[in-house]
Amino acid sequence: MPAIILLCLMLCAGSAQAQWLVDIQTLSSAAMQGRQTGTAGAELARQFIQERYVNLSLAGFTPNYQHRFNYGFGQNKVAINMVGYRQGCTYPEHFIVVTAHYDHLGTQGRKVFYGADDNASGVATMLELAARLSVVCPAYSYLFVATDAEEDGLYGSKAFVAAPPVPLNRIVLNLNLDMLSHPDQRGKLYLTGARHFPELIAELEADFSNIRFLHHRGPPGKLRDIRRLDWPNASDHGPFHQAGIAYLFFGGQEHAYYHTTADTWQRIKPEFPQKAMQAIWQTVQWLEHQPPTVLQRIVE
Ligand SMILES: [Zn+2]
Repeated sequence: MPAIILLCLMLCAGSAQAQWLVDIQTLSSAAMQGRQTGTAGAELARQFIQERYVNLSLAGFTPNYQHRFNYGFGQNKVAINMVGYRQGCTYPEHFIVVTAHYDHLGTQGRKVFYGADDNASGVATMLELAARLSVVCPAYSYLFVATDAEEDGLYGSKAFVAAPPVPLNRIVLNLNLDMLSHPDQRGKLYLTGARHFPELIAELEADFSNIRFLHHRGPPGKLRDIRRLDWPNASDHGPFHQAGIAYLFFGGQEHAYYHTTADTWQRIKPEFPQKAMQAIWQTVQWLEHQPPTVLQRIVE
């Protein structure tokens, strides 16, 4: 390996980790007040995401990357997805949509729900993927979607699937990222939706001992491993799945800080999210080497 590449592997990985943490710290800072949909804190989060998209040279479909939608009773609530775009070189007409929700629970009185793990960690990881995919032209075109109103009921991803900026049948896969910085009690990260990609499972099983695979059995909503949580609808991959689009969902299990004011960046231990990032990046590289027909499989 040439020395320059080795140097980059060491330094670039270091700076990527630093940027990842800065992104989490910023999104989960007191200034953003828990990023509840429709608040000034959410607006600050959007300004930050916009800055990062600009830095990453992502194209947009709208001014400031904003996609506004209404939801709720009488459609009286307003929320805004942030959509950045990177065109691919081998399959430019086929899209992989990376999603991570940026909204969280906001405040209760003087208490702030910072949402560092849920889901500043997913947004930061999505930005890191965008950075890595900007170095060389990727095979697929990518949409990076920081969704809003996930906590209220996956409304950002529902709005995206209802009115996508590219034809829905050109979306080959949704890669959804939600809560990546804490392991479950057994030290595991969860990957759902990989049942149709056995080679990917084999590769990840060989290289990572800390991934737990959850597989659909039968109709949507039924899973073999977990009965308590409805994993297909646990996060933003749900509406993609409902629309018949393949998905991969990397996410954490509920932990002691989940939906509490203790979900802060100070509680994140870097080793676990570093491993998670490696597994997610290896997954993206695997996807990059598959033709669209492999990814765009029939969802039963
Ligand atoms: Zn979440």
